[in-house]
Amino acid sequence: ERLNNDFQFMEVGRVDPKKVPAKKRRNEFGEIYHPFSETHAASQSHRCLECGNPYCEWKCPVHNYIPNWLKLVSEGNIMKAVELCHQTNSLPEVCGRVCPQDRLCEGACTLNDGYGAVTIGSVEKYITDTAFALGWKPDLSDVEWTDKKVAIIGAGPAGLGCADILVRNGVKPVVFDRYPEIGGLLTFGIPEFKLEKSVMTRRRKVFEEMGMEFRLNTEVGSDVQLKDIMSEFDAVFMGMGTYEYMKGGFPGEDLPGVYDALPFLVSNVNRRLGYEKRESDFIDMKGKRVVVLGGGDTAMDCNRTSIRQQAESVTCAYRRDEANMPGSRKEVANAKEEGVNFLFNRQPIAIIGEDKVEGVKVVSTQLGEPDENGRRRPEPVPGSEEVIPADAVLVAFGFRPSPAPWFGEQGINTNDWGLVEAPEEAEFPFQTSNPKVFAGGDMVRGSDLVVTAIWEGRQAAEGILDYLDV
Ligand code: FAD
Ligand code: SF4
Repeated sequence: ERLNNDFQFMEVGRVDPKKVPAKKRRNEFGEIYHPFSETHAASQSHRCLECGNPYCEWKCPVHNYIPNWLKLVSEGNIMKAVELCHQTNSLPEVCGRVCPQDRLCEGACTLNDGYGAVTIGSVEKYITDTAFALGWKPDLSDVEWTDKKVAIIGAGPAGLGCADILVRNGVKPVVFDRYPEIGGLLTFGIPEFKLEKSVMTRRRKVFEEMGMEFRLNTEVGSDVQLKDIMSEFDAVFMGMGTYEYMKGGFPGEDLPGVYDALPFLVSNVNRRLGYEKRESDFIDMKGKRVVVLGGGDTAMDCNRTSIRQQAESVTCAYRRDEANMPGSRKEVANAKEEGVNFLFNRQPIAIIGEDKVEGVKVVSTQLGEPDENGRRRPEPVPGSEEVIPADAVLVAFGFRPSPAPWFGEQGINTNDWGLVEAPEEAEFPFQTSNPKVFAGGDMVRGSDLVVTAIWEGRQAAEGILDYLDV
């Protein structure tokens, strides 16, 4: 029940939305969190102190007006709240689901000092899901259309964030993607138990009604050339992500039964969405002893997808300790509940097997001096080798930039790492060395987060509007 006092946070503790019990969710792919009820959303939002210094807003990469929409939800004003959410974020229902809130908005909440942060992410998801269910749509009736059109390469969060700002300013965005559905990694990477696919298909309809055009199953560089796009459009935004897989550099990585994380996750999506071309494309973990190498979000998604595919066992080996894992705490806890066995402080040194994988040789580590990023470096403990038996190994060491061969021809510069140079602090933010081409998201900052990709896409759109002088 809603309490009308300013000390609600003392009387009402933090309550997260209920989860499907681990035993049940091990066998199904659907989202694990139940939606908030109206009462819960209101009473949880009312816990916000409205402290004069909303650190949560600063820590949120898109700088959402968090205390303002929390207040609106506590008053039951969903329609005003959803409008406010969309002033700063193009995909609030997605961020509410997949942001690592413990490191971002909720990590900065004043109530962390003993009371438990406000459930900001769950409220953000609640606002948009509820508003859509009530028939809300973005209102673009005031938009004055210009004659400008911009090509966007990549329908991931960066491309969609850019298209959202352009269309709201009367510039027609045409979005090209090689995949058959929009979303980029939101659709073809992040599994359904974190983000159900219907969320993106609903968003696609909304975006199309707003005036975005999607040209899917269209790869730039093969199905269509950038030089043709350049002559048809007034400007171009590239949000193509990073798709080169990092390797461990140890023996046995090429043995049959060793897979990169993303092809495994994509093959699962393709089967579930009916996009599978050949049955042999599916990477099946049923009945296998699976070892996942890595400790980030991608590793957690591999762990939990393998569990749902009925693997015999799933072991995740990570070279640092639990406190130093890069993945979201929430997702590590969910993986543990679902039966993933974690081996911390274990560094793989070889994948062993005759003609297929039979195990992973690891060495124990202890944390040494901090590296250049301030994270303590894992150092091997001599004589601590052991072999973890395995029928399949999933390598989730992250992604490296994957610059297209045609960047050079078009005068688009990359740095030594292969990241596209598109500085935020330029006259036109996120403009590349080719003045007509802008870029943002993972291909500019390196593989990161959905919310930072959205931010860069939106900021780049502001740069494009200035460049086009509209
Ligand atoms: P992408 O999402 O990669 O989109 C790029 C798009 O460009 C793709 O659709 C691709 O098909 C298209 N494209 C590329 N080249 C071409 C071409 N030549 N022609 C046409 N189209 C092209 N972040 C979080 O915040 N929370 C999470 O829980 C989380 N989980 C993750 C789980 C996994 C398994 C992975 C891999 C990443 C995860 N991330 C997560 C990171 C997040 O998904 C990315 O940072 C984000 O999607 C980057 O957005 P983007 O728009 O830059 O690129
Ligand atoms: Fe928090 Fe992400 Fe929403 Fe920002 S976008 S308020 S960081 S959940």
